[in-house]
Amino acid sequence: MRRPGGDGGLPRRATQTLPMITLALSKGRIYDDAMPLLRAAGVEVLEDPEKSRKLILPTSRPDLRVVLVRASDVPTYVQHGGADLGVAGLDVLLEHGDGLYRPLDLKIARCRMSVAVREDFDYAAAVKQGSRIRVATKYTHTARQHFAAKGVHVDLIKLYGSMELAPLTGLADAIVDLVSTGSTLRANHLVEVEHIMDISSRLVVNPAALKLKREPLRALIDAFEAAVGGAAWQ
Ligand code: ATP
Ligand code: MG
Repeated sequence: MRRPGGDGGLPRRATQTLPMITLALSKGRIYDDAMPLLRAAGVEVLEDPEKSRKLILPTSRPDLRVVLVRASDVPTYVQHGGADLGVAGLDVLLEHGDGLYRPLDLKIARCRMSVAVREDFDYAAAVKQGSRIRVATKYTHTARQHFAAKGVHVDLIKLYGSMELAPLTGLADAIVDLVSTGSTLRANHLVEVEHIMDISSRLVVNPAALKLKREPLRALIDAFEAAVGGAAWQ
């Protein structure tokens, strides 16, 4: 069995070093928005992921490193101990399911999950008539729950990218996607017809790591919490 942390499996008590903490982040908006929080928690990442090709980045804390993974892989890394903690969008977490301790809303990478259709598609009428609506989305789990709760009949079509294209090509009548300013929808002649939920990124922690590395993880979670609270007035 591999141990959480994956640092070679040497008995920790044999060395004087602190246990290594691994934080999983995804490049792009989550990384960019998490940096001010890390800085406020007293941590500086020592390499720029946009310039370096490294996937493991050292930080100013010798016992803390950052691993760069794809946004939708963050929960998997954390759940199986490839990372002790990570930052992931609520959208990604809801698709992933249970198995993670979720102590904190970091209030970063905020957007909303919405239903959108072509400007010329009468969504309200389709719902009223009880027709089956073809919905393309990356978020099949959340979409299924949303439409089931409303009693709307849907055929879900799983996509991995560019949901906006689906209604334009006739692949689907509607999409479930993340929206922030709405400019992508407008540019593609789509309109938002339902707001499903507000989305932000959350700190997630491996429950076993929280037991094994309780002190340093607790301190880091507290520091994040203070950083989020401190930024709340902005
Ligand atoms: P990948 O690019 O690897 O397929 P992704 O597209 O989900 O993954 P990002 O675009 O970096 O990766 O999004 C990461 C997270 O940021 C999402 O899971 C979501 O929580 C949030 N997010 C996505 N789009 C927006 C947006 N327009 N505004 C704010 N936050 C967003
Ligand atoms: Mg993306």
